[in-house]
Amino acid sequence: MMDKTRPAPWHTETLAAQALGWIDPQTGAVAPPIHMSSTYLRTPGYGTERAYIRDENPAFDQAEAMLTKLEGGAAALLFASGMAAATSVFMALKPGDHVIAPKMMYWSLRNWLIGYASEWGLDVDLVDMSDLAALKAALRPGRTRLVWIETPGNPLWSVTDIAACAALAHQAGARLAVDSTVATPVFTQPLSLGADLVMHSATKYLNGHSDICAGALITKTTDADWERIVAVRYTLGAIIGSVEAWLLLRGMRSLFPRVRQQAATALELAQRLAAHPAIAEVLYPGLPDFPGHAIATRQMQGGFGGMLSVRVKAGTNAAKAVAAQVELWQRATSLGGTESLIEHRASIEGPDSPVPGDLLRLSVGLEHPGDLFADLDRALQRAIN
Ligand code: PLP
Repeated sequence: MMDKTRPAPWHTETLAAQALGWIDPQTGAVAPPIHMSSTYLRTPGYGTERAYIRDENPAFDQAEAMLTKLEGGAAALLFASGMAAATSVFMALKPGDHVIAPKMMYWSLRNWLIGYASEWGLDVDLVDMSDLAALKAALRPGRTRLVWIETPGNPLWSVTDIAACAALAHQAGARLAVDSTVATPVFTQPLSLGADLVMHSATKYLNGHSDICAGALITKTTDADWERIVAVRYTLGAIIGSVEAWLLLRGMRSLFPRVRQQAATALELAQRLAAHPAIAEVLYPGLPDFPGHAIATRQMQGGFGGMLSVRVKAGTNAAKAVAAQVELWQRATSLGGTESLIEHRASIEGPDSPVPGDLLRLSVGLEHPGDLFADLDRALQRAIN
């Protein structure tokens, strides 16, 4: 068993592959048992180490310790979904607090912020986070409590400078939270760049197999703000199930090789599609002419992620026809699984969507890159001829 009392000499990916090397003390099992109990025995004096599942669950411990390690934080919490994790951060604020989020971001969270959160009393401003002057102008020193960013940001994969946003937020007395779902801890550690909180839709790359719904928050410090988030999860019962926590831990064991392979394939596809006559534009942070490539090169180590979007030259109907005609890419929402997914986002998001109609979002899986390109190429040829 790894000695966890001294700084480990091992790389994070080594710790991930062994799920931190935890061995079940009772059985010697290298994979943990699944704890299903919802309540815990009290001593005759009414003492208890654990009380009730909504508060804590031994099924969370190893996965939360792993997330803390992966992000270099002080503590982590698992949630029922990425949305549960993200909204808990905002619900831990107080009515009247000012928050700033990106204009272009994961659409359900944006809709929740402009709808529910604003009605509930948060003062929400949406800004273009690639424009640091706009962020600076939107910050209200003493009133802005939180700046939320997502990088690379869904679905244009725009890159936001985490260190610069952290510095601006901190100067104004605000905290910085980063949705790092797409970057994954393999490519970016937001806490080391100055962020205070990291959020993941663990439904995506962390789990990696499109078979659970989960969310995670990792904090730099276990301060009073963090304790309020802990209390929100407990009160709302926004907790993950024991089986899902177990599956997530299993998924994270293979995180590093999975996402490295996905990013390598995404880069290859981005390069080949950029030269394709039916494609107007490829949006991928790994391409040298992509705005934000220089920042991505600085803040992402070892890859640019497995997500890219393409804009089809012949327009909206042609883009829809490509999505309709692919055979290997699965027409489905979500991202980060082993199977490649294609999605016409504007159709999904509806008439108020800011996403261009000619855009197709691609989540690159673990298939052979040549097969993925050939399938797209065939569908593109059919759509334009
Ligand atoms: N953040 C990003 C970047 C996402 O893509 C998603 C889901 O697609 C979420 C957050 C929400 O996560 P979940 O679906 O696990 O609630």
